[in-house]
Amino acid sequence: MEVKILKDVLKTNDEIAKNNRKTFHSRGIFTMNLMSSPGSGKTTLLEKTLEMLPSSMRPAVIEGDIRTNLDGDRIVKYSVPVVQIHTELYGGACHLDANMVQKAWHALQEEDINLLFIENVGNLICPGGYRLGEDRNVVLVSTAEGEDKPSKYPVMFSSADLIVVNKIDLLPHLDFDMELLKNRIRQLNGDAEILEISARTGENMDRWIRWIDETSRSKTPSLADGREISPHR
Ligand code: MG
Ligand code: ZN
Repeated sequence: MEVKILKDVLKTNDEIAKNNRKTFHSRGIFTMNLMSSPGSGKTTLLEKTLEMLPSSMRPAVIEGDIRTNLDGDRIVKYSVPVVQIHTELYGGACHLDANMVQKAWHALQEEDINLLFIENVGNLICPGGYRLGEDRNVVLVSTAEGEDKPSKYPVMFSSADLIVVNKIDLLPHLDFDMELLKNRIRQLNGDAEILEISARTGENMDRWIRWIDETSRSKTPSLADGREISPHR
């Protein structure tokens, strides 16, 4: 019975996610679901991104945290529409789901935007299993976390469209093997693009901005669309 209940929950989530995506597309909005462990630099990446985006891109941000407005407060300084979700109000969930995003959208629907960043709760496990209505899954992993994360958290990395390796400015101080990390990613996901950046120093941030620009104009589906995903196994 337990398995059936979980499947029903995910099926409902998937339906709401599809509706979210339909809504976003009808408004010409390209949506990214940013996922990583806590401290990989999702919010710093967003801050730098908001500084660099060309004026043709009109972004909004949905922030997901268990509690606190700390990340939302950082983003609002960039004068973009931002909604902070506190997942503890939904039972302390360690991930965002499509229903939460739908509710957050109500606060954004009057805004003139064409880009939506959803910063998921910092957690490498279940966020990878819940579609939100995004066009692309973007997974961050920082050099400080070591090379083992893809192997330990395969669901997250196998559903990614883009993997951003952040904090490359720290490489001189770390015993970190970039090729080993990439090999481990490739074992799980041969299709995802990999970008090496430092959001802090800005290194290669232009490539990330270009990826957003090019991908937002392409009509190809997310790599996650065709995949069977089962979180909380
Ligand atoms: Mg954050
Ligand atoms: Zn969770």
